[in-house]
Amino acid sequence: MKIIMLGAPGAGKGTQAIQIAEKYRIPHVSTGDLFRSNISNNTELGKEAKGYMDAGKLVPDELTVRMLFDRVSKDDCANGYVLDGFPRTIAQAEVLEAELAKRNDKIDYAIDVEVPDENIVKRMGGRRACVKCGATYHIEHVPPKQEGICDHCGSELVLRADDAPETVLKRLQVYHEQTQPLIDFYGSRNILHEIDGTQDMNQVFADIVKLLGE
Ligand code: ADP
Ligand code: AMP
Repeated sequence: MKIIMLGAPGAGKGTQAIQIAEKYRIPHVSTGDLFRSNISNNTELGKEAKGYMDAGKLVPDELTVRMLFDRVSKDDCANGYVLDGFPRTIAQAEVLEAELAKRNDKIDYAIDVEVPDENIVKRMGGRRACVKCGATYHIEHVPPKQEGICDHCGSELVLRADDAPETVLKRLQVYHEQTQPLIDFYGSRNILHEIDGTQDMNQVFADIVKLLGE
């Protein structure tokens, strides 16, 4: 099963993708997490990506696509994956479609988690991310057991630099200009499914399970 998560930054794609990955036993592939791990490992790719990310802009397609294909060509992705944060441009979607078509393959579901911009800005201010394992929390909706400390690995939780309100507004603008057109793109492939992302996160997941099957 190959799934794409669509939606604005902060819509809850990662939150849902982690649960999908666990239930359906497929890897969760987040391009944002892959970039952040390159940044913390100080790789050339990380150095190139950082400036774009801190400014709320997209990393150029060429770098992103190469990194994504490196990841999905690993053995654990042979039976499918859930993509979180990719594709983010029509060009990325076209390359993905063409690569899969070469192997007689295709994406099965594009799940659009819908949340209006007003809710997004509030949510992002409360998001906290683990500096080490990337787990995310929310100070109100998903608090860690001990304030500021990751439940999974005990490392420090921080407000991501790109979750500062002015950067979130920039990311939303980029989303509307470059990523939202993917909704029509996947609509025209008849694999688009819209889910109300303003609901409680357990209800969002229940709607996704209704779609994908038990
Ligand atoms: P994305 O991957 O789309 O950028 P996240 O999954 O990281 O978004 O979610 C953004 C923030 O909102 C996180 O702090 C997360 O804990 C919180 N969140 C996710 N889903 C919901 C929800 N349904 N209701 C309230 N808060 C949520
Ligand atoms: P995310 O963790 O998905 O919110 O991504 C954080 C940042 O990483 C984005 O704001 C972009 O700068 C960069 N990024 C992640 N995925 C992509 C992508 N598919 N294309 C371009 N840039 C990306």
